[in-house]
Amino acid sequence: MVEIDLHIHSTRSDGTLTPTELIRLCASSDLKVVALTDHDSTEGIAEARAEAGKQGGIEVIAGVELSCDTKIGEVHVLGLFVDTEAPDFQKFCERTRSGRLERGRLMVERLAESGVKLSFDRVLELSDGGAVGRPHIARALVEAGYVKNTKEAFDTYLGTGGSGFVPRRRLTPRDAVELLVTNGALPVLAHPLVSPVKAGRKEIGQLTETLADLKTAGLVGLEVYYADYTPEQTSRLEALAQEHGLIPCGGTDFHNSGTPGEPTPGSVGPPMQSVEALKRLKQDRDARVSTK
Ligand code: AMP
Ligand code: ZN
Ligand code: FE
Ligand code: FE
Repeated sequence: MVEIDLHIHSTRSDGTLTPTELIRLCASSDLKVVALTDHDSTEGIAEARAEAGKQGGIEVIAGVELSCDTKIGEVHVLGLFVDTEAPDFQKFCERTRSGRLERGRLMVERLAESGVKLSFDRVLELSDGGAVGRPHIARALVEAGYVKNTKEAFDTYLGTGGSGFVPRRRLTPRDAVELLVTNGALPVLAHPLVSPVKAGRKEIGQLTETLADLKTAGLVGLEVYYADYTPEQTSRLEALAQEHGLIPCGGTDFHNSGTPGEPTPGSVGPPMQSVEALKRLKQDRDARVSTK
């Protein structure tokens, strides 16, 4: 078991555990440092920290996950050590969450056109006020009996090009990295390779070039220890992180989704040295900003 998980989701986006439940689970799995990285939201951080305070011995890093759509597929960028009070960043997240709501409505309409009837109100209930995502629609599809589980919902309807798929407004990975740097956060490239548990997840195209380009924009880390990556995938990513001077990060990307084989917190994550390196970098960057 590991002590660090820098990628987990709560009900503030598309996870199914509240921040409190999630931190209880992490503490009971003997995790020492976790980053709550909800999609386009830092709304769960205060609750997670309050619970961490009660549990003792577990630290919560304020994180976020931003989704980018590029011509060659989806790219996700994590931000660690986000300033949750920064108004511009919060405005960006609020706008993006409204976009997600509209997109959710459109996806339900598209599914209806192909004969798959879902209640959008039910999707909203499942999202419980958090950032609406495809996993909520997937759960509604499971409930309505169209598919057995989330994975099948993505395979059949919600994956890129599926009958219910609607793309998001485009944010480039470079824009996401720059936005996070402006906020004082540390950008980390998420899940760069194929993940067997999440069918349809492809390797990021032109990975080496992408890393070199994003590094010049301020990328500091790469997810190396991730979910169900094989030892071969991990070794390849360790080498890439080293080559590009990126801190090896990672975690389970836990959603408590009910997908068979979903890795649980504590099963995979980076070493403590990575957290120490991230903290040093954060301090250096903050010091540079305050002396400007
Ligand atoms: P969205 O942000 O609405 O586009 O939804 C993307 C989210 O859906 C990802 O962050 C994952 O949490 C989840 N996801 C994507 N692909 C799959 C898959 N094949 N199986 C299960 N969950 C997935
Ligand atoms: Zn998610
Ligand atoms: Fe992601
Ligand atoms: Fe994620």
